[in-house]
Amino acid sequence: MTRLVAGDFEWGRVLGEGSYGEVVLARLKDPSPFPDWPTEFAVKKLSKRFILKEQSIMHRTGRDVQKQCFTEKNLLSKLSSPFIVSLFTTFTTTEELFYAISYQDQGDLRELLNEKGALEVNAARFYLAELFSALFYLHDNLVIHRDIKPENILLGKSESGVHLKLCDFATAKDVTTLKDGERASTFVGSAEYVSPELLGYDEEVGKYAVYESDLWAAASVVYFTLAGLPPFRAESEYLMYRKIETNDYSFPEGFHEEGKTLVKELLQLKPCERLGAGRNHSDIKNHPFFKEINWTDLHKQEPPTIR
Ligand code: ATP
Repeated sequence: MTRLVAGDFEWGRVLGEGSYGEVVLARLKDPSPFPDWPTEFAVKKLSKRFILKEQSIMHRTGRDVQKQCFTEKNLLSKLSSPFIVSLFTTFTTTEELFYAISYQDQGDLRELLNEKGALEVNAARFYLAELFSALFYLHDNLVIHRDIKPENILLGKSESGVHLKLCDFATAKDVTTLKDGERASTFVGSAEYVSPELLGYDEEVGKYAVYESDLWAAASVVYFTLAGLPPFRAESEYLMYRKIETNDYSFPEGFHEEGKTLVKELLQLKPCERLGAGRNHSDIKNHPFFKEINWTDLHKQEPPTIR
């Protein structure tokens, strides 16, 4: 990673609000030090004051914000996949930490679904195959994302068309950092996509995030992408959790048949019964829903149009 400073960038519009500060579009003033670098970046600004304040109330919130910031930096530095945002450099000022990440110029999947309602099945199939490719890569590298949701699935134009990249690794778990016998037990993630094991529905399974927790969340994304709304919906988080624990969801009329079997096989209460459990990626790749997908170099293939 090359060292740059905040003054090396021209600062543009705010792209989004993160938990610890803004994400801002930034362009290098001088030609990039590396020919393979992009010209624009999404720079995540993390307020040091906010991090310290959050840290001082960690005993109440249970959130180790400092650790989350470093987890994101460490994981993005070591991961390299066409389906995951890249971290190019980090720098600091007295007030803030900055992470310069690959800029995705087409918004996120949540915005797209809000706009479209649902995706046409061929487009859904292609982008869901890219999402699973991201997960297969992460799980092969012993990382559990723990916050898979449409908001964390970014879209960006490249030579072959619009492709997907997964972001937000603040709550991801690097399994290699767990000590012997330790498990990824902190409750993180978003209510609609949280897996039953994290709600402690089954004492035998325990309250731990496992690779298959990402598959549960991905199944909710499959459902959302094909139906235009998430599978578990309720007026309160409490009621939503009750629905998740009892696997209480149904399909709207006209839901794609093979999409339905994919969702059903993934949304199994017991992690070991989910399609693709035990990192058996081929079970998912060979599912009839994906029969038209050529899984090799998806990021170089021309995707179906979505806009
Ligand atoms: P959260 O509160 O969801 O955990 P966070 O602090 O982890 O947020 P991100 O989710 O990484 O922050 O980013 C916040 C928002 O900034 C995203 O929803 C997206 O709109 C925008 N954003 C983040 N990274 C990029 C990127 N690489 N390209 C374009 N926009 C981005």
